[in-house]
Amino acid sequence: MEREMIADLFVVKKCPKYGKDEKGIFATQFIPKGTIVHFLCKKCGTWSLKEMARLSKPRILQVLTHEYPTKYCDRRLGYINHSCNPKIMETQKGFDIVVRDIAKGEEATEDYRIFNEEKHFDGGCKCGEKNCMKNTTYRSPAPKKLRRFWDGEIRSAMRLIPDVKQPLKKELLKEHPELRRLFNKNEKRPKHQSN
Ligand SMILES: [Zn+2]
Ligand SMILES: [Zn+2]
Repeated sequence: MEREMIADLFVVKKCPKYGKDEKGIFATQFIPKGTIVHFLCKKCGTWSLKEMARLSKPRILQVLTHEYPTKYCDRRLGYINHSCNPKIMETQKGFDIVVRDIAKGEEATEDYRIFNEEKHFDGGCKCGEKNCMKNTTYRSPAPKKLRRFWDGEIRSAMRLIPDVKQPLKKELLKEHPELRRLFNKNEKRPKHQSN
């Protein structure tokens, strides 16, 4: 059986707001904040230039647009679009988490800037969010203020991990048993992190 390392909660659909043939990923059901929706598993790898050289031209184009550098074992994730105010964030702990509730049918987005990729922003950003960087040129590393914003978003979502249904919990813990404490409701929080 093919294991799913992206939660089976999304479909890839055309997304004309980004251009005629552009696609995006959309929620097939309500996905609450705190849901872990993806992690890099052992099957996910990275494309090497040698491997890419063996691909057909159309496939290379597809890899460069949707998969490079990560070879996701589930291609759906490669279609996730950027937003300056995303629904999902990479935690830097090996998994991605929903930071804002996603309604059924709504597009799921991530902030590409957290991947330290500048190539996406040659023409600025048109996500339309109120905190959109618009025509500002993005240079990594991200400014302190932005990194603080990301940290806050991620921390607040991670606190909800024990409280929401986690479709990837079993698979995630099989590969990353050290993350078990994140699912533990009774974990004592440090005092300075009062809510
Ligand atoms: Zn994988
Ligand atoms: Zn934007």
